[in-house]
Amino acid sequence: MLLQKDSLALIGNTPMVRLAGPSDATGCDIYAKCEFANPGASVKDRAALFIVNDAEEKGLLKPGGTIVEGTAGNTGIGLALVANAKGYKSIIVMPETQSREKMDTLRALGAELVTVPAAPYSNPGHFVHTSRRLAEETEGAIWANQFDNIANRKAHIIGTAEEIWTQMEGRIDGFVCAAGTGGTIAGVGLGLKAHDENITIALADPHGAALYNYYAHGELKAEGNSVAEGIGQGRITANLEGAPIDAQFRISDEEGLEWVRRLLAEEGLCLGLSSGINVAGAVALAKQLGPGKKIVTILCDTGFRYLSTLYNRQWLESKGLTVFPWLAHN
Ligand code: PMP
Repeated sequence: MLLQKDSLALIGNTPMVRLAGPSDATGCDIYAKCEFANPGASVKDRAALFIVNDAEEKGLLKPGGTIVEGTAGNTGIGLALVANAKGYKSIIVMPETQSREKMDTLRALGAELVTVPAAPYSNPGHFVHTSRRLAEETEGAIWANQFDNIANRKAHIIGTAEEIWTQMEGRIDGFVCAAGTGGTIAGVGLGLKAHDENITIALADPHGAALYNYYAHGELKAEGNSVAEGIGQGRITANLEGAPIDAQFRISDEEGLEWVRRLLAEEGLCLGLSSGINVAGAVALAKQLGPGKKIVTILCDTGFRYLSTLYNRQWLESKGLTVFPWLAHN
């Protein structure tokens, strides 16, 4: 096994796996980058490390300083770990609607957790605005600002995209994923296109997000809603500006959940719903491109983060979602 020089070097360089079910269903080879293998168990460790390194290089973050961020949870978990490893404090603001596991994890890691009611972005109480204000009020603090700080997507241009290109040995026809900040899709898209502009970059958008309509019709318009955490964007963030999106698919929670169920039951992968939506997007892109193609997507985080939601019968029933058969009696 590879010997790493320190704990932060464990971020990135994640394994890539061929997914048998989605590949068999389409006649394509569908591969997925296992971002749950990062130390904080999500893709967001990458952005957290790049954002903190960038703030240090710009002289904004001084020894003993504080990192403040608004997040659906995963970026906060990444930032809390990076902060610990570098001797900083972390203050994390989350909407109350996110999973209990993510909140418990943040407290366990030593972050100061602030929860706020879910609110539209236009509301000053929205978690992003609350975190910006907290950063301004806290001495020696920086605001990570993952949505509009392009150090986020640089993590994916320099890291994720290069890793995918190397792991696929340059043989890749399409890449697909959902967007929260847009850092992953924009960064991987730009990085892969720099190698081969013929690679199709596709967005898998949950209901309740505005990006599908934007890329399909040029209009930021949201319809419906989704229980997926960490994805679903209503505006063009700085990270999304200039993202080379060639195709877009709107994916329902049930479609995503069906892949979450199948990947666990058939391939032993326990994942969150954004991963299921990404795999559903990969299947849709495979059908569009035709058999024999190689398509890559992202497994964003671990399902252990959603035991009280996606893997809980009462919760699924309360949302009107299909209960996994093995949960029906417990
Ligand atoms: N899936 C999950 C579970 C996430 O937490 C996030 C980050 N918000 C994403 C996907 C989307 O990643 P990005 O912010 O790079 O668009």
